[in-house]
Amino acid sequence: MKLYSIKDLDLASKRVFIRCDFNVPLDEYGNITDDRRIRAALATINYCLDQDCSVILASHMGRPNGEFSEKLSLVPVQRRIQQLLKRDVKLAKDIVGEDATALAQNLKEGEILLLENLRFEKGETKNDEKLSKALSMMAEFYVNDAFGVSHRAHASVEGITRFFDEEHKAAGFLLQKEIQFFGVLLKRPVRPFAAIIGGSKVSGKLEALINLLPKVDKVFIGGGMAFTFLKQMGYDVGNSLVEDDLLQEAQHVMNEARRLGVKFYLPIDVVAAQTFAADSVSKLVTSQEIPQGWMGLDIGPATVRLYREALNDVQTVLWNGPMGVFEMERFARGSSKIAHFVADSYATTVVGGGDTADLVKRVGVDEEMSFISTGGGASLELLEGKVLPGVEQLIIEEDS
Ligand code: AMP
Repeated sequence: MKLYSIKDLDLASKRVFIRCDFNVPLDEYGNITDDRRIRAALATINYCLDQDCSVILASHMGRPNGEFSEKLSLVPVQRRIQQLLKRDVKLAKDIVGEDATALAQNLKEGEILLLENLRFEKGETKNDEKLSKALSMMAEFYVNDAFGVSHRAHASVEGITRFFDEEHKAAGFLLQKEIQFFGVLLKRPVRPFAAIIGGSKVSGKLEALINLLPKVDKVFIGGGMAFTFLKQMGYDVGNSLVEDDLLQEAQHVMNEARRLGVKFYLPIDVVAAQTFAADSVSKLVTSQEIPQGWMGLDIGPATVRLYREALNDVQTVLWNGPMGVFEMERFARGSSKIAHFVADSYATTVVGGGDTADLVKRVGVDEEMSFISTGGGASLELLEGKVLPGVEQLIIEEDS
């Protein structure tokens, strides 16, 4: 898929609106704990600054539901961008109000304005046309570099693109890179191609799984979602997370895998716990022997060994979803071992954002992955084969 590129815009000395994804995690003191998303936007911002543009940056943070919230103000983001760019960044008190409008109008070449949290405006998540228009009036060009929110039809992501013609809107470098990476991964992966799919539920990843099956050679299931498959295979999984309404779907996935010749792996042992708690009593059991009332919260060492063995010859790995409840140390070992193995492999390794991105960072192997997506939900929708609403208006041509 080819997108209108920022490189094709005639930007010199113009005013550019860049939709970024600065939705970064904060600790209890308001410090940014992971600024990857901000750093990922710098290429586009610097490109505009190098062309003497005046730059308006806009992002959402969290879910303020259309109300101002001091905790979700972009003040920490403003400071971090200033540090990273070593330039002054003005922060507007509002989004399309008096302050932002005045600051935007008076913005000079090479100056940067950051609007307040877009979701302080009720219309943002409703894709309100008035808000899209008001945002579009601030600049001559629109650039979307917010991959992490491009699966949302929001005013600053989708609606706004309708107010710019083809010569005045484009995808930024980050958005292009993400779309291109997933495009190549799904269309022309180097084989063997394996998908490691984990996380809590089958329901969240079912469509992605079904879309991936014709494209991959092997699938490795972990996390809570494994138990719906194991139950469907006739195992007694105790109190493990199971979606009973999806047992038939799970069977369908396994049938499809068989029909397509895809090797489908499920955990052969698990770390079972008595309760869903960090200090719960736990023990290693085979998948056949989960005690009544206990729940599987991680894959066990035999599964890790099996998965490693089967991943040995793989040339491309896509990983989306942890292998266990990695937030609790006792149940993080399976995810951590798989993360190290994947990081050490010579395969192209793609991490699908969200929890899995946090996980590889926590384990300290983020630098060793080939590509970590900045969008969990957005990357999942790409894997489901969908066209993202924020990207749709920026497409020049679909891949043949
Ligand atoms: P998802 O958002 O679907 O990718 O799921 C991520 C969440 O799945 C993480 O917060 C994990 O704690 C959770 N998870 C992983 N394995 C299990 C499990 N065996 N039982 C319950 N939750 C799990």
